[in-house]
Amino acid sequence: MLQAPCTPLSELSGAVARLASEEVNGVDGHELGDELVCMRRLMDRLEAEFVRRLERFDRGRGALSEGAVSTVSWLRATCGLTGGGAADRVRMARMLVGLPRTTASFHAGRSSFANVALIARLADEVGADTVAGVEETLVPAAEALDPGRMRILTAFTRHRLDADGALEADNRDHERRWFSCDQVFGGAFVLRGELDAENGAVLKTALDALSSPSGADDQRRGSQRRADALVELASRQLRDGRLPAAHGQRPHLTVTADAATLRRFRGAPPANVLGVGPVHAETARRLACDSVLTLATVAGNGAPLSVGRASRTIPAAIRTALGVRDEGCRFPGCDRPLAWTDGHHIRHWADGGETRMDNLVSLCRTHHRAVHEQGWEISLAPDQQVVLIEPTRVGLRPPSGSRRPRPADVGAT
Ligand SMILES: [Zn+2]
Ligand SMILES: [Zn+2]
Repeated sequence: MLQAPCTPLSELSGAVARLASEEVNGVDGHELGDELVCMRRLMDRLEAEFVRRLERFDRGRGALSEGAVSTVSWLRATCGLTGGGAADRVRMARMLVGLPRTTASFHAGRSSFANVALIARLADEVGADTVAGVEETLVPAAEALDPGRMRILTAFTRHRLDADGALEADNRDHERRWFSCDQVFGGAFVLRGELDAENGAVLKTALDALSSPSGADDQRRGSQRRADALVELASRQLRDGRLPAAHGQRPHLTVTADAATLRRFRGAPPANVLGVGPVHAETARRLACDSVLTLATVAGNGAPLSVGRASRTIPAAIRTALGVRDEGCRFPGCDRPLAWTDGHHIRHWADGGETRMDNLVSLCRTHHRAVHEQGWEISLAPDQQVVLIEPTRVGLRPPSGSRRPRPADVGAT
């Protein structure tokens, strides 16, 4: 029987098969750690071999003879690479030819694929000849730094070697900026976009300042905290009235609701957020808790008969006193400062609750929502201490920004 010739690739394939058949459950952590580091090095070296062969394939227009329009598109179609991953490898194939020290470090497994890709990108931007002149400093850095720091180093090098080119690239990034905030079917909004480095940093700095956990019990994921921070940023601008007026009015959210809706009468129509659509009565009650209110009387056909003067549901003097007493969100376990809070009517004004200190409590937006939409009950004891009752309705989840009740407590009625 003929035996297939033993090639390096068939040997490698055999070695991978043997690795796959190894039992790993019993292996201790240190040993696994060493194995993972070793495998990563081997993968980087294998990438170096991939790139070396790709250089020959690309130079010989192998992709064209295979019927693809470019080496990148051939890689995407046949090797399962993303556009970015394919472009990185083609760029490396073309640039590393002129960068002997980088190539040697890559092949020896001393520089990672990610760091070599950054050097190749730099070479593509300023020319391989120019980068060859600074390999002496770049290669030791590539062997020591993680890709995040290496990216910063190559960016600095770029500015040093070719400041005008870097400015041009910044301008291109700036021109490419876009952002969309679209409401989809079902009512939710989907946000997408791209910002240049400077403006992205402006946004990220502001979001970071507002997205720290609200306390040790904050259960929100990082992505949820960033989303809340973005809304917080906008809410503050709206509330503080710093945004430019349009049609003679400061921009604000307009909610219209029947008195019956605010009182949660069965069969009452949903409330409406202007330009957005219907919202649940409980959401309208939350928004109305601490807002500017205009009462209108309407005829049976919906035409307004009279419109009253706008007034704050919590007058400025009471709000000040509330701030002095509460100092921040009063939901147990929350440390959000006063600037993050709404005044919550413990007994809603729509139900006849009075706007008095003993009927008001400051809640951050996460916990104001927890009380209205998620069924938590909050009240004040005669000594002004907060009394909290967990939701009893099945299916209600604990507020994401606070301590979570024990599983046995959830939904137990
Ligand atoms: Zn409220
Ligand atoms: Zn809170």
